[in-house]
Amino acid sequence: MTMRTAITLTTLLMAGVLQAQPAAVDQQRLLNADADVGNWLTYGRTYQEQRFSPLDQINDENIDQLGLAWSLELPTNQNVESTPLAIDGVLYLTLPWSRVVAVDGATGEQLWLYDPEVPGEWNINVCCGFDNRGAAAYEGKIIFGTLDGRLIALDAGTGQPVWSIQATPEGRYSITGAPRVADGKVFIGSAGGEFDVRGHIDAYDVNTGERLWRFFTVPGNPADGFEDDTQAMIAETWIEEGWWDKGPGGTVWDAITYDPQTDLVIFGTGNGAPWDAVDRDAGQGDNLFLSSIVAVHADDGTYAWHYQETPWETWDYDTGQQLMLLDMEVDGQMRHVVTQASKNGFFYVLDAATGEFLSGENYTEVNWATGINKETGRPFIVPEARYNITGAVYNLVPGPAGGHAWQPMSYSPNTGLVYIPATTHWTLVGDFDARAEHLKENPNARQSFTGRLVAWDPVNQREVWRGEEQINPRGGVQVIGGALTTAGNIVFNGNLPNQEFVAYRATDGERLWSFDTKTAVFPGAISYLVDGEQYIAIAVGGPVQGGYYAPNGARLLVFKLGGEDSIPDLPAFTQRPIAPPEQFASAEVISAGGRAFEANCATCHAHGVGRGRSSFPDLRRTPALHSQELFDNIVLGGQLSANGMVSFSEYIDAGDTEAIRAYIVSLAEKALEE
Ligand code: CA
Repeated sequence: MTMRTAITLTTLLMAGVLQAQPAAVDQQRLLNADADVGNWLTYGRTYQEQRFSPLDQINDENIDQLGLAWSLELPTNQNVESTPLAIDGVLYLTLPWSRVVAVDGATGEQLWLYDPEVPGEWNINVCCGFDNRGAAAYEGKIIFGTLDGRLIALDAGTGQPVWSIQATPEGRYSITGAPRVADGKVFIGSAGGEFDVRGHIDAYDVNTGERLWRFFTVPGNPADGFEDDTQAMIAETWIEEGWWDKGPGGTVWDAITYDPQTDLVIFGTGNGAPWDAVDRDAGQGDNLFLSSIVAVHADDGTYAWHYQETPWETWDYDTGQQLMLLDMEVDGQMRHVVTQASKNGFFYVLDAATGEFLSGENYTEVNWATGINKETGRPFIVPEARYNITGAVYNLVPGPAGGHAWQPMSYSPNTGLVYIPATTHWTLVGDFDARAEHLKENPNARQSFTGRLVAWDPVNQREVWRGEEQINPRGGVQVIGGALTTAGNIVFNGNLPNQEFVAYRATDGERLWSFDTKTAVFPGAISYLVDGEQYIAIAVGGPVQGGYYAPNGARLLVFKLGGEDSIPDLPAFTQRPIAPPEQFASAEVISAGGRAFEANCATCHAHGVGRGRSSFPDLRRTPALHSQELFDNIVLGGQLSANGMVSFSEYIDAGDTEAIRAYIVSLAEKALEE
């Protein structure tokens, strides 16, 4: 669509000549999404998921004039990870707790907000926060998933539900990823790989919500009969019986792409459940399709191909990172490929039609493998990294935060580079007591977490430039935001530690512009036109000034040339002090408490602090440390279950809770010493 058509349409709409149909996106429009320059029609902008905007009004010559056009306060203090859609002047943004808001793209006026009222108790089934990364649009509907596993289609004009269905099997599933739509089908998977679920991806009728097919990524119990030949095939790679009762993971929690050229749905699967491969399958099978890129036929969900990145996965190496389709040269020939900057630290290039491994090199520090066998596509695994076999502690990189997480990367056809929000996470892996012992002997053992934007040449598999090193002083599991490139020779990226939104020159990485967001910037930005004027939009909000109870400045920020709006400073907030009671337990009890804590509490309250730092309270500060009765009322009695802290009486008893309380007191004492 040209700019002139956009203006004409808008002019007619303003004159009341045409009645606007909101979210008028159909298959033809999705196929032509790249040429539809003023819009952002699907999560990754196009089916190719390249996150490149062809708009160039804002460019490396005039970006110093870029300013805030408007901002919208978002009703949350949780992490905001969503990429908005921009369709004919309206933005559709998903929010934490699976809410959706529609906003006028030129003025920031809120048009509607829909809340699916996910029960607070569902929090216990959510590994990593209440985030939602985006929605899909099709024929007047806005379609999104909820934390409690529903898939809902809203009327794009009114924000009222058209249909709502349960899109997950029974169990501890949640949906945080964006659905994709093609030919009247909605494709969606689910999260839950930290909670022993069986991964799947489904297709639903976009008009009715009827399920059309479901593809399981890992086999179920053979005694129940396999669903199809593919299940029988992958069951051969699971050796020790009983895997079916353990999960066993492989969730399709974010990376889904539909490839119109091959009519395949290509997706990435998650880690194994449990993480420790020895616990999961001591027979050391490859455990398909864990940590794999898999393709199925869009029409019926039957298997097409797979490529496993990490056989017998044991390091939380999800393959849930964005999948990007490219047409690029490989060994002097043009190939249609699917690429991924995987959590395991390698950048993969596969043939999109067959899954053939074409190349893979590490884009960040890696020490679990020394490289990938060009013939077989299998990694050369470093034996010492298999901590669960050696029984020794290993200083692993990437750690479970990965070399790259869900934060979107972006490709510019003008530079031929992929811009990867890359991280370097060193962490100790191994038995809980062995790690504690190791840290005592090696207090400087590396457990660091840094990130940087890397401009990567996918053809030659090499780094071209990198942005400044970002170190997260607050810890937590995220350090860098997603990327957007534009035809203005710009790449936009969120810098979390500095709480700023930054623009670099796409060709050489020179820092050109930044905006003080006063909060963390996680997702990717988008660009769109309204009345012929280019806008840049980014949703911000993340852990600042003390976590769970604090306001976090969550906003939708929208920029244009000459924009002069501003945002206020965050309201002052003081955290509860760390003031533990005197330690009341022996070293033995504290250690037992630590083990019980890791098994029951650490998923949400990692290191006592709270995973992601804002989604869960910092337990070192809780008044409940001073009273076993209060502690038990919460942990066993379920006093805070509406907040998501449900009763754990099924798993632990009063003896355990006393040891856990002693362990948290020890963490609080340690924090005071630091
Ligand atoms: Ca995981």
